[in-house]
Amino acid sequence: MAELIAGLRADVVRRNLESVRAEIAAACGRAGRVADEVAVLAAVKYVAPGDLPVLAEAGITLAGENRAQDLAPKVAAAPGLTWDFIGHLQSRKVRQILPLVRLVHSVASDSVVRELGRHGAALGRPPRILVEVNVSGDPAKSGVAPAALPEFLARCREVAGAEVLGLMTMPPLARVPEDSRRWFAALARLAADQGLSELSMGTTQDYVVAVEEGATIVRIGTRLYR
Ligand SMILES: *Cc1c(COP(=O)(O)O)cnc(C)c1O
Repeated sequence: MAELIAGLRADVVRRNLESVRAEIAAACGRAGRVADEVAVLAAVKYVAPGDLPVLAEAGITLAGENRAQDLAPKVAAAPGLTWDFIGHLQSRKVRQILPLVRLVHSVASDSVVRELGRHGAALGRPPRILVEVNVSGDPAKSGVAPAALPEFLARCREVAGAEVLGLMTMPPLARVPEDSRRWFAALARLAADQGLSELSMGTTQDYVVAVEEGATIVRIGTRLYR
């Protein structure tokens, strides 16, 4: 597990969540959007399973885990939360995570698409996914190249039988939040071109900019916990 935040307090998380929601509402106002179209996902890689009930108590309803091996114990510790998978996904982990999550945010390889096809049938519904896009072309980032997106989306539907709800991105590390704007705008354009409605983008450092550019799910960790 990543370095854990010890002694999470419900009152602190609740206060942070309220101020995050207020900033989202303000950003929506500036962008002419409705605030309730933005979901706050708590990124919980820093949260120990034993602390997860504190999040639910604080008003968090949606959680996202990065590590396939940590997902099952966390879901077991907080079955009342809705769970998404947001981390780098290896094909051999697909089978393990798929039954546990509402949505996989980070589909980005054909080997994962094939495994979704193999194990999706057992779900009794199409796997729901977002496709991770490497909008900046940063070689250190995972994600499908924008030019390869239309064909990749077609394979997600044909090979995996997946329901593709939208796109996700992790932009390069930003010096200031404004640095991320062009990457979020680029993801929003790609989603619009492909007729996709969900946009998972923005973390602690840049979620306000992400909401201004159309995010429907912001993935927030640190900001909620301290
Ligand atoms: C950790 C993580 C986040 C949240 O990052 P913070 O900077 O703590 O808000 C969001 N998305 C992904 C994929 C992450 O791994």
